[in-house]
Amino acid sequence: MTKRAYNFNAGPAALPLEVLERAQAEFVDFRNTGMSIMEMSHRGAVYESVHNEAQERLLSLLGNPKGYKVLFLQGGASTQFAMLPMNLLKEGQTASYVMTGSWAKKALSEAKLIGETQVAASSEADKYMKLPDVSNLSLLDRTAYVHLTSNETIEGTQFKSFPDTGSVPLIADMSSDIFCKPFDLNQFGMIYAGAQKNLGPSGITVVIAREELVSESPKTIPTMLRYSTHVDNNSLYNTPPSFSVYMVNEVLKWIEEQGGLAGIEQKNMKKAELLYNTIDSSGDFYRGCVDPADRSLMNVTFRLANEDLEKQFIKASEQEGFVGLKGHRSVGGLRASIYNAAPYESVKALTDFMSHFQKTNG
Ligand SMILES: *Cc1c(COP(=O)(O)O)cnc(C)c1O
Repeated sequence: MTKRAYNFNAGPAALPLEVLERAQAEFVDFRNTGMSIMEMSHRGAVYESVHNEAQERLLSLLGNPKGYKVLFLQGGASTQFAMLPMNLLKEGQTASYVMTGSWAKKALSEAKLIGETQVAASSEADKYMKLPDVSNLSLLDRTAYVHLTSNETIEGTQFKSFPDTGSVPLIADMSSDIFCKPFDLNQFGMIYAGAQKNLGPSGITVVIAREELVSESPKTIPTMLRYSTHVDNNSLYNTPPSFSVYMVNEVLKWIEEQGGLAGIEQKNMKKAELLYNTIDSSGDFYRGCVDPADRSLMNVTFRLANEDLEKQFIKASEQEGFVGLKGHRSVGGLRASIYNAAPYESVKALTDFMSHFQKTNG
């Protein structure tokens, strides 16, 4: 048996062991070509079949909604923060942002470089420890799109439902919770996600968008930054990150084997429940950071009574083989990222460790 760490990294994060082992088995000789997938032309039939399979799987896991294009881009979700307004925010329009924390802020600050923006809702006054009410967004006339962050990776909040924005496209950064549960893509004009949290390794960003939003981009922006370039060329305008695309396809196969998004959701709920219950039943020894109604299934943030105790916790956890439990440097505290691929056994081991740590330090 391969020895595996109890991996709670926020991203890049744990991948399914089965996927890593399959990739290992075909690493040197992919489908009897005598080459690794990394060594072959992205214009060849073998690579293209993998590329197309991954695109088809993304849509099929969402129930094959009509009228959407899947793009494989580079530069991370962070490049989407700029590419989105460059393509979709026109002169005389306003882009509307829902402010929920660290990633939403970054998305907004890039949009501000490109055009007019508005904050449609914000929970800054609650230090982003809960989500703003988005049931009644007041949008300006000529709103180009509404942008939200479905899961704030650093603070640990997650939307359970999404606002109806009518004819204004709703666009979501789903980097840290894409495919953790079923959702209706038809509610969105576009979603995007860096792959390295829930879909595979780093190096590829998945964009799924309504055709009409991405088929015509302004000719004034550089070719590589136009969505239309990638639509017109099936995301093969330039060399794609072929190994990352292959890995995403394997992770998607694995999600199918888990019973699709509904199956994955069941597993994610079991893991999150176990961990939040351990926090809530600790008599205030562990304190969840986020309003219980807005807690994330993916990033569980919590604190101890003081920073010294938190340091001790991290040190002791590392000695026991736990990885990645330190909170983001901007907020401190502790965070366990329990994405799709984090096994239940890891979460169980963590809660056992937490109970033990409380007994010896409580
Ligand atoms: C990690 C993350 C990003 C940044 O992704 P990169 O691929 O590193 O650019 C953006 N948004 C959210 C919600 C994230 O979790």
